[in-house]
Amino acid sequence: MTTTSETPAPARGRLLVVGAHSADFVWRAAGAVAKFVKAGGEAKVVALTYGERGESGELWKQEGQTEENVKRIRHGEAERASAHLGATFEAFDLGDYPLVNDHADIERLAGLMRDFAPTVVLTHPDTDPFNPDHPVAYQMVQKARLMTSGAGVESGFRTAPPSEFLVFEPHQPELCGFVPSVFVDITEVFEQKKAAMAEMKAQAYLQSYYAERAEHRGNHARKVTGTKEIRQAEAFMRLVPNVVGSL
Ligand SMILES: [Zn+2]
Repeated sequence: MTTTSETPAPARGRLLVVGAHSADFVWRAAGAVAKFVKAGGEAKVVALTYGERGESGELWKQEGQTEENVKRIRHGEAERASAHLGATFEAFDLGDYPLVNDHADIERLAGLMRDFAPTVVLTHPDTDPFNPDHPVAYQMVQKARLMTSGAGVESGFRTAPPSEFLVFEPHQPELCGFVPSVFVDITEVFEQKKAAMAEMKAQAYLQSYYAERAEHRGNHARKVTGTKEIRQAEAFMRLVPNVVGSL
């Protein structure tokens, strides 16, 4: 029986995941990243910050802790987590809570997109009433993506072909305007996702939460497809239409 887990990624596809903080990609898209690589694609993870101040709770319980040390630990965690998934990791280290950016940061991200030429871009939704940085990451990615693809006409800057553009599932989807339009069956790579999550010791409390979320989304994906083999899934929302040759 054919399952969605056998659906290959586009040939030579390149997936770019941009998170505000260095662990965001693990909770929300680790399975999709592993699946993409397994299907022959290339994946790159970019963290705009390490989440050193706002999302490294466990590390700040240690006496004498410093921002520099937290960043060093978080870099190692994200690198090892990316390796579990077959992705490369790059940190911009722009500073978190709040994440602020200027023209040069957008140019840096656009330059990375022009060089990597992603076929799929993944980031946070544009709204999050509980997080000061996630919507800023969305705005940066949105702007850089448009500066990469241009307006569909000749441009006064170097361009790359337009990518698919999706957002990953936020912590409280209903409050972030997130309605899933894509489920990725991550059953066959779920152990890789768990291994990646286990690297994020600064946020150990999220590991069981996102393992449960994957089970719930697996249930939803089973209902949509009738495919009983799906155990775990991740949810995404498309921001631009999916163009196909026929329905
Ligand atoms: Zn975050």
